[in-house]
Amino acid sequence: MAQNKTENWKQKLAELAATYAGHPLLAELEAMVERYNKLEVRLGKVVSISDKLQRDMIQLNQTLEKMAQTDALTGLLNRHGMSKCLQAEWNRMKREDVPSGLLILDIDHFKRVNDTFGHAVGDRVLAEMAKRLKDITRNYDSCCRWGGEEFLVLLPDTGRDGVETVYQKLRETLDDNPIIEGDQPIKITFSAGAHIAYAGETLDECIKQADDALYRAKRRGRNCRAWSKPAAPAKTKKPRRTG
Ligand code: GH3
Ligand code: MG
Ligand code: MG
Repeated sequence: MAQNKTENWKQKLAELAATYAGHPLLAELEAMVERYNKLEVRLGKVVSISDKLQRDMIQLNQTLEKMAQTDALTGLLNRHGMSKCLQAEWNRMKREDVPSGLLILDIDHFKRVNDTFGHAVGDRVLAEMAKRLKDITRNYDSCCRWGGEEFLVLLPDTGRDGVETVYQKLRETLDDNPIIEGDQPIKITFSAGAHIAYAGETLDECIKQADDALYRAKRRGRNCRAWSKPAAPAKTKKPRRTG
């Protein structure tokens, strides 16, 4: 581009030189054109550097945004990231009038794991728990580390049977393949609160329903799940996933 412009200037200058040969200002004009051409080449370089910086900046922003929404230990969404997913799902639920499943999980007596095996092992248990959760859910479900040893799972378009299936699968994977540290199996159980969310409820109400159910599961003795109790509105559509 700059090269083309330089050629154009050269051609114009040659035409002027032919018309005004010997004119006292011609040498000055040639010097100015040369300077202009150099500046134009430099400007081209500055523009391309600025374009690259802008692209790098966009990429950096995307990386930062992702980091701000991700839990560093488990790679799951953190609370901030999950809030965005929940809000988006709520908007969809309102539009389409389909239910979503919510499951809050809390590892039982996790303090004992730390006390017995150390904090680093506790960290690895959390990461493994997250991995298993990811493995048993669909890629359009959202899993989040809601707090220390607490996880929240959002299962769009899912009814009671679907939530129950996810709960049972997680239990089975921990029973059948306990997490191994060194060569020692670490027995992990968890309690869960389950809720089916409908468009008529607010997001906060739904999370509270699941949380209250989790509290009941803990009080029942742990290693179990409890359901919230609100009645589903009769006219709500059936979820696509039922089991
Ligand atoms: P409960 O069955 O009632 O849930 O008992 P709990 O021991 O699991 O619950 P409690 O709230 O008493 O303790 C939670 C423990 O989780 C204590 C805390 O140190 C540990 N914890 C929270 N975050 C992390 C973490 O990131 N890494 C490790 N290793 N431990 C964590
Ligand atoms: Mg716990
Ligand atoms: Mg807890």
